[in-house]
Amino acid sequence: MKYDYIIAGSGCAGLSLLYRMLTAPQLCKKQILVIDKSQKNKNDRTWCFWEKGKGLFEPIVTHQWETLEFLSDDFTRKFDMPTYRYKMIQGIDFYNHVINFAKEFENVSFISESITTIQSENNLAEVITEKAVYKAAYVFNSTNLFHPKMDTSNSLLQHFEGWVIKTKTPVFDATVGRLMDFRLSQQHGTTFMYVLPTSETEALVEYTLFTEKVLEKEEYKAELKSYIQNYLQIEEYEIQHTEFGIIPMSLAKFSRNVPNEKYIINIGTAGGFTKASSGYTFQFVQKHTENIIELLQHGKYPNPALTFRDKMFQWYDRTLLEVILSEKLQGKEIFATMFKKLPIETILAFLGNESTFWEDLKIMGSLPIGPFLTSGIKQL
Ligand SMILES: Cc1cc2nc3c(=O)[nH]c(=O)nc-3n(C[C@H](O)[C@H](O)[C@H](O)COP(=O)(O)OP(=O)(O)OC[C@H]3O[C@@H](n4cnc5c(N)ncnc54)[C@H](O)[C@@H]3O)c2cc1C
Repeated sequence: MKYDYIIAGSGCAGLSLLYRMLTAPQLCKKQILVIDKSQKNKNDRTWCFWEKGKGLFEPIVTHQWETLEFLSDDFTRKFDMPTYRYKMIQGIDFYNHVINFAKEFENVSFISESITTIQSENNLAEVITEKAVYKAAYVFNSTNLFHPKMDTSNSLLQHFEGWVIKTKTPVFDATVGRLMDFRLSQQHGTTFMYVLPTSETEALVEYTLFTEKVLEKEEYKAELKSYIQNYLQIEEYEIQHTEFGIIPMSLAKFSRNVPNEKYIINIGTAGGFTKASSGYTFQFVQKHTENIIELLQHGKYPNPALTFRDKMFQWYDRTLLEVILSEKLQGKEIFATMFKKLPIETILAFLGNESTFWEDLKIMGSLPIGPFLTSGIKQL
C-alpha cells in the first residue's frame, strides 16, 4: 500500500503534525501511517513554552503563569507579562490527547517498529523497519537517523533532573514561575534551578546545566535536596514524579532538508527546531508544523524555505552558544545582564524568534560587545 504521508517518530513533532493534519479539512482523509519504536504511554517529559493567547493544545495545558521570576546573586525580580503566558504541558497528556483523537480516523494507522533507514526510490519515500518497507509521497521524519555529528567542539548538553514535589502545608505561590535561579555554584558551567508551582502544595523543581558532560546521578539529587531545604526552606515533602533529560545545544547543522532527498522532510529536533541557545523546542515545532499544513493544503511543497529572519535568529543562536562554549562569558552573566536591563517580553520575544529588528538591537545593546562581536563574526 502507498500512503500519502508517513510520520516517522511520534513524539512532539510527529504528533503535532498529525493533529494538525487531522484538523485540516483538506488533509484529514489522507492515508497516514505513523511509525514509532515506542508506545508513547509514559509521562517521559514536561514541556514548557511561552505564547500569546490560546494555542492549539490549550485544553491540555496543566498550568500557566502570568508572572515569571529571575534570580541571581545581586538581583531578584518578578516580571508581570502583559501578553505572553508561560505554559506547561505533561508529555502523557499530549500523547493521549493526540493518539485518542487519531484513533477515530480509519485512514490513520499506527505501527510500533524500529526504523533502520529512510530513503527515496522512484519518486516515493521509503521507510524501512526491521519488519517491512513502507512507501509514501512524503515522509516527515523526527527520528535521529539524519542527525549531524555532535561532539564537545561544537555542542553543549543541556541536562537536567526535575522532581515534582508535594508538601503537606501550603508553601508555593502558584501564580509565579521561577524561570531561572542562578544563585548556585557555577563550577561545572551554566547552572540554574527552575521552580514551577502548579498549586500551593505542588511544584516542579528542576536542576539544569549547560555543560559538556552529564553529572553523576547522585549530584543532581544532592543539589535538588539542598535547594529545596536551603532556598525553598521546605523540610517535609514527597517526590511524586522525577524526570531526567538531555537536550543537545549544538552548532552542528540540523537541517529540515535531507541532502538529495526531496520527499523526506525533517521535523522537530531532527529538523533544527531545538533552539541551539536554550533547548526550547515545543513552540518552534508548533510554528513549523503549522507552516507545513498551510503548504500541504495549498498543494505546495511542504518544506518551507528558511526566511531571512530565520537565518538571522539561527545566527544569533550560534553566536550566543559560541560565547558560552568558548567560555568568553558564563550563561549566568549573559542572562543576568539581559534580565537586569530589559523588559521580560522583549527577552521572550527574542528567545522565541518573534522579536522585531528594533528589539534585536536592544538585546544586542544590553550585552557586552567584545565577546559577542568575535563570536558573531566567527559564526557568520
Ligand atoms: C525530559 C525532557 C524535557 C524537555 N522539556 C522541554 C520543555 O520544557 N520545553 C521545550 O520546548 N522543549 C523541551 N524538551 C526538548 C524537546 O521539546 C523534546 O525533546 C521534544 O520531545 C522534541 O520533539 P521531537 O518530536 O523532535 O522528538 P521526540 O519527542 O523525542 O520524538 C521522536 C520520536 O521518534 C522515535 N524514534 C526515534 N528513533 C526511532 C527509530 N529508529 N525508529 C522508530 N522510532 C524512533 C522516538 O521513540 C520518539 O517517539 C525536553 C526534552 C526532554 C528530553
